[in-house]
Amino acid sequence: AAPDHGYVYDFAEGDAGMKSLLGGKGAGLAEMTRIGVPVPDGFTVTTQACVATMQADGVWPEALWAQIEARLDALERRTGRTLGGGERPLLVSVRSGSVFSMPGMMDTILNLGISDDAAAALAAETGNARFAWDSYRRFVQMYGEVVEGVPAHAFEDELTALKHRRGAGLDTDLSVDDLRELVATFRRVARANGADIPTDPREQLRRSVGAVFASWDNPRARVYRGLNNISDDLGTAVNIQQMVFGNRGESSATGVAFTRNPSTGAKELYGEFLVNAQGEDVVAGIRTPRPLAELESVLPEAYGQFIDTMALLESHYGDMQDIEFTIEEGKLYLLQTRNGKRTAAAALKVARDMVDEGVIDRATALRRIEPEQLDQLLHPGLDPAHTATPVTRGLNASPGAAVGRLVFDADTAAERGKAGDAVVLVRWETTPDDIHGVVAAQGVLTAHGGMTSHAAVVARGMGKPCVAGAGELQIDAAARTVTIGKTVLTEADTVTLDGSTGNVYLGALDLVPPQITDDFREVLGWADEVRRLGVRANADTGPDAAKARELGAEGIGLCRTEHMFMAADRLPVVQRMILASDAEARGAALADLLPMQQSDFDEIFAAMTGLPVTIRLIDPPLHEFLPDLVEQSLLVQRLEAAGAGAPPSDELVAARTLLAHVKRLHEMNPMLGTRGVRLSLLYPEICVMQTRAIIRAAIAVLGRGLDPHVEIMVPLVGFAEELRRMREVIVRTADEEIAAAGVALDYTVGTMIELPRAALTADRVAEHADFFSFGTNDLTQTAVGISRDDAEGSFLASYLEAGIVPANPFASIDAEGVAELVRIGVTKGRSTKPGLKTGVCGEHGGDPASIAIFDAIGLDYVSCSPYRVPLARLAAARTTL
Ligand code: PEP
Ligand code: MG
Repeated sequence: AAPDHGYVYDFAEGDAGMKSLLGGKGAGLAEMTRIGVPVPDGFTVTTQACVATMQADGVWPEALWAQIEARLDALERRTGRTLGGGERPLLVSVRSGSVFSMPGMMDTILNLGISDDAAAALAAETGNARFAWDSYRRFVQMYGEVVEGVPAHAFEDELTALKHRRGAGLDTDLSVDDLRELVATFRRVARANGADIPTDPREQLRRSVGAVFASWDNPRARVYRGLNNISDDLGTAVNIQQMVFGNRGESSATGVAFTRNPSTGAKELYGEFLVNAQGEDVVAGIRTPRPLAELESVLPEAYGQFIDTMALLESHYGDMQDIEFTIEEGKLYLLQTRNGKRTAAAALKVARDMVDEGVIDRATALRRIEPEQLDQLLHPGLDPAHTATPVTRGLNASPGAAVGRLVFDADTAAERGKAGDAVVLVRWETTPDDIHGVVAAQGVLTAHGGMTSHAAVVARGMGKPCVAGAGELQIDAAARTVTIGKTVLTEADTVTLDGSTGNVYLGALDLVPPQITDDFREVLGWADEVRRLGVRANADTGPDAAKARELGAEGIGLCRTEHMFMAADRLPVVQRMILASDAEARGAALADLLPMQQSDFDEIFAAMTGLPVTIRLIDPPLHEFLPDLVEQSLLVQRLEAAGAGAPPSDELVAARTLLAHVKRLHEMNPMLGTRGVRLSLLYPEICVMQTRAIIRAAIAVLGRGLDPHVEIMVPLVGFAEELRRMREVIVRTADEEIAAAGVALDYTVGTMIELPRAALTADRVAEHADFFSFGTNDLTQTAVGISRDDAEGSFLASYLEAGIVPANPFASIDAEGVAELVRIGVTKGRSTKPGLKTGVCGEHGGDPASIAIFDAIGLDYVSCSPYRVPLARLAAARTTL
């Protein structure tokens, strides 16, 4: 477009490539217009106009209003209609449309242009007075709420009261006179709330566009953008479009559809519609819509048009489409199409099917699947063997199972969720204002609404289980109860939702680990073919190692041996070792620990036969295995007070001895204290025991015909000399064991690089290392100088909010600082040993953004928790595309 084009584009002037200027919706309407899909006529005010307005604190660019009016004049000419009057009134919708989809987050005004005169003209033109006055009362309500800020309940209360007086169950049971009365009532309500609704429809339009601009900054939109990493600077476009009416009578309808099933990905008709209704009735979930398949018998001609249009749109866009449509007196119109949001399972199936159908290639398929989405598939489901009977059921709106106590409002859900309680949010229907509660809940249960209701869309996007439209629920949010038949449930009750079937159960049912499907295996196989980076897992037990292998791990990148010391049957032995007064007593305790460690290693080597297993020697400070200093001091005081005057009891003597040890080992800053290699240099016998356990396990596994690949790793090295000495002990011990067994066993000895000094002197460190593994948790802690244990609860949260740091450096690698240390470490290490094997085993190994950086640095592999392995495989593939 020419730079002097101005701020407004007719639909006929744009195309799909103009998304950043016209927003997703505007570009979609333009593209549909271009390819000949029936779309009501209109024009789009650009995101630039919104951004310019925001920058000028709400003042519009000078030319903007004149440009809008010129486009409106042209639209009136093209349609042969006049906004707000004449024999043929023009009504328009005013809708937001940002670059990234933000469903339900911003504002919409429908039926703008209606007035007393226009309503009368519309009634005459259509012969349907009911429709005209219903459109009018909807306009007053929406305009009042959205533009003038009248509280929604002020209108809803009047509507409910009138329906009650008339004994009407549905809005559609109200008469023309009722609706006329409602318009007058609504206008009164608006005035009572300080809102003056202008009579000039052009002034209404001007204010509506301003309200849509402003809605970009409303709190729920900001929360949504924060959650979805959408920049606050983009602004929204505004689409002004001729209204077509799904509420014009029994040959009119409105609905939403996907070209494939967004839950499963199956190529089948999926969607729902309502006869004689407007779009928001479907989306808001206030009336429960009918499945799309029934449209064929209700409006056969429009159904035929609809099927053809779906096929056209999908082949044009080459992706599953999410469509909003209206049928006005038998004629189909498309209001919106966009790439459909889908569950991870559906994303995999659609990608695989479309590759099979020849619609897209594998690289495109991989680009379309967000790594984070795969997490959903790895969510637990209900144990298929369960025999529980559902207490009620609804629609299977978002897959996976959730167990939690009931909560009845979003604020409570957010509060209790944050406190760590498992809760299920129960609502009549959810609105965008409930989003913080949905985030914090295990799952969502609603009484109203269909598969495309707000609750369902949001839950699917987050991978939260959701059961929607469970019609039997009678919710009393004020009393915090829900009644199902004769059963009354309160906040004290626990339920289990099965979002895959729509069933709801009383109590907590057993969940089983997720199932890996053929689609999953196939698509991740494509990822494996293109990625360069290896993917290993962090695992400390045999079962975890087996799980990691099943999920595609190519070895273990980190086995934290101290986790094995924490088990209940071992802690006393470990304490004996620490408290030993001489080497002999310590040796005895270590001798007891050796077989325990050996059997752990045995299981892990066996599970990972043929693949490398990196076992790290003991790392954390010893005091972690001892009682807390303050608590132990208090215990001693209590015992002293209890036995005042009397000779000390045995218990007191023991408590005092333990306290002395705790004091001796106490450090002000244990994370920078006696841990890692420092500990093993102080007590080499610990390292000797661990090396023996590792090598004996490997020899035993070898003896069973398996193939252990042993990598022994030293943590928290800062000086090359530390590693040189440690390596000597390890090699001497290992070689002794191997010689004694008379077998051939290879092993390597490497180090973690998790202190800046190690990274900066990596050329020296590499002289004694067969491999490097970057411990980016400690490296971040020590390079950035933020305690990894205190960070999240501390100033970091306000830093993130204020934008001082772009992301939590413990979740996503600090690209400018910590990643630079990794790069230096790799470069220097390889300057000493070309081809030195390097990996990452901090939490960042499972973060897609960090994975892209590690790939660019040239690391050989990342290592992450077993359930993040598939995500890492996909992320590693996507960085190469
Ligand atoms: C690290 O520091 O990144 C690491 C993997 O070790 P740990 O988290 O056990 O300190
Ligand atoms: Mg560490």
